[in-house]
Amino acid sequence: MIWNGPNLGPMGGFMRWILVGASTIAAQHMIGAFRANGHAVAHVVSTTPARAADFAAEHGIPGHGSDLAAALADPATDAVYISSTNEKHLSQALAAIAAGKHVLCEKPLAMTVAEAAQMVRAADAAGVTFATNHHLRCSGSHRAVRGLIESGRIGKVLSLRIFHAVHLPPHLQGWRITDPGAGGGVIPDITVHNADVARFLLGEDPASVVAQMASSGMGQGVEDSAMSVWSMSSGAMVFSHESFTHPFAGSGLEVHGTEGSVFARGVMTQLPLGEIELVTAKGREALPFPDHNLYVQAVAEFAAAAAGHGRPAADGWDGVASLAVALAVREAARTGARQDVKIRGAA
Ligand code: NDP
Repeated sequence: MIWNGPNLGPMGGFMRWILVGASTIAAQHMIGAFRANGHAVAHVVSTTPARAADFAAEHGIPGHGSDLAAALADPATDAVYISSTNEKHLSQALAAIAAGKHVLCEKPLAMTVAEAAQMVRAADAAGVTFATNHHLRCSGSHRAVRGLIESGRIGKVLSLRIFHAVHLPPHLQGWRITDPGAGGGVIPDITVHNADVARFLLGEDPASVVAQMASSGMGQGVEDSAMSVWSMSSGAMVFSHESFTHPFAGSGLEVHGTEGSVFARGVMTQLPLGEIELVTAKGREALPFPDHNLYVQAVAEFAAAAAGHGRPAADGWDGVASLAVALAVREAARTGARQDVKIRGAA
């Protein structure tokens, strides 16, 4: 069945959010997504009080400061959105969970698989909703491709190729390309997304990976490009390409099956863009898909899950899994040896 439209119904209740990290993604996408769902943004917490104050003024947020505990003590708040640099996610998530808040955390969840699993287990024990902001699985395009695969239109899936080589815009060329301690590098940044896409589309986990990585002009102490091949549990193969240095490569994915192939161009993006074509023995056909906002959808499904309806688009274990794949890719590239992907086993 082809997934047919956004689920923006009134299942999730009103939520008041604390933003942890005065970040680009919060400013450009998430504040709008919370407000589009009718939610309120109550506080922004930054490591720098002046930065928090500026961010709050710019975005009309009443509470601001550097004291996460003080923000968490506000009983009127329900949930925390974490979009700080990656090495901070663990302690901030554990504090939010201990305060009884639901948590939507940016990818990669943490620096190690064990830390990511620690966050998810803490949320499970506290009975709060914990989700990973893997926005691509919220897009109409990816859901349409998944629907095609599930409907059997392309037969048995043989392979998936994901092209996600972009040119990192100048305003993001900070810690991502210079600071391994903050979780920099294209593998924690983009390979995690590709891993989530593969798991979402194919409904199975990579079992092992081989990989190469490189610094091709932008990365300083971290990789800015990677290519890897994954063996899925069913035997299907996945090719994944990520880079920060490719101005004109475009993005996309192809799924090839025994009865058909799907070509999706321009769909590895934050916006509801791109085009999808299905090719079978009957010929070529364009596949329409809903063009709802990916982040609005993610917040809607998070709020519904927090209200007891269903699960978030990508839950905590999805975030653990995508990190496990990405770190296996990095280790495979570092060692030159095939790596098994351990998700719950290693956690
Ligand atoms: P930014 O670099 O914009 O923000 C990260 C942190 O850097 C902020 O929390 C802030 O720290 C600090 N910071 C940002 N701008 C400045 C500045 N001008 N001066 C000083 N400090 C600054 O990162 P992103 O928004 O790109 O990424 C944040 C997180 O979100 C990462 O985990 C990333 O992987 C994820 N992400 C997810 C996306 C998705 O689509 N799911 C897309 C983009 C990013 P402080 O905490 O002190 O406020």
